[in-house]
Amino acid sequence: MSAPEDINVRQKPAVAATGGGRSTMLATKQLTKNFGGLTAVDSVDFSVAEGEIRCLIGPNGAGKSTLLELITGQLDPSDGDIYFDGEDLTGLDTHKRIDTGISVKFQSPHVYENLTVEENLRVPLQRTDRDVERVLAETLDRIALAEKAETGASELSHGEKQRLEIGMAVTLEPKLMLLDEPVAGMSVDETDDVADLIRSLHDDGMTFVVVEHDMEFVRRISEQVTVLNQGKIFRQGPIEEIEADEDVRRIYLGENA
Ligand code: ADP
Ligand code: MG
Repeated sequence: MSAPEDINVRQKPAVAATGGGRSTMLATKQLTKNFGGLTAVDSVDFSVAEGEIRCLIGPNGAGKSTLLELITGQLDPSDGDIYFDGEDLTGLDTHKRIDTGISVKFQSPHVYENLTVEENLRVPLQRTDRDVERVLAETLDRIALAEKAETGASELSHGEKQRLEIGMAVTLEPKLMLLDEPVAGMSVDETDDVADLIRSLHDDGMTFVVVEHDMEFVRRISEQVTVLNQGKIFRQGPIEEIEADEDVRRIYLGENA
């Protein structure tokens, strides 16, 4: 059992978690976000290699969503930098970051309830010069909602809504996809569908950072896991090691780990 001040010493170097060889797609350097007196993200060096599916876990309030919002530019950092494909993103607004190839599905679903499935997918495509009809057809197929293209989003199940929202991010054909709790509140079958969707996008070359509590789901999609606790990287490594780690279990006590 380590004392809290040992945490950073025991953190594995990022290279171990990104698995040699492959190039680094995303890297944060000493990234920090303060909310008043609270440091939600605390000097985080987080890096993800091209082609990875990295899961980010940690107790409620650990700073997972804040970290994603810093990467997308929804939030400005108090300190530190973010590099994507070697380029410093720190001064770019969210739209410019999307143009460089980063898409996100946030924690709370926000599909447009008054629009159909297809109309929802057209929204992110409005500001691109992509072949809209091709991307629409491909995306509807991918998210397995082709038969519901004309259905109002308000009539979809929770699982379908989450798939639709992932689809909206997919239309932008990002290099890096950030997903914040994509299977929260889903049935086992709905969860399986999302795991399949992520794996198929990954097979086509997409890199992922996925925040998720459901360890069964994490095991299905991810090899390397990063554990965040109190704004800091607490552990990083293969899923089997993380699951067996007593200190990880301890910080999750009272949670659903
Ligand atoms: P997680 O996603 O890991 O559950 P969050 O990133 O949402 O954690 O939150 C990390 C910490 O930052 C929490 O203590 C939360 O209350 C705080 N926090 C998040 N967003 C804000 C905000 N906009 N203003 C003030 N505090 C915030
Ligand atoms: Mg969160």
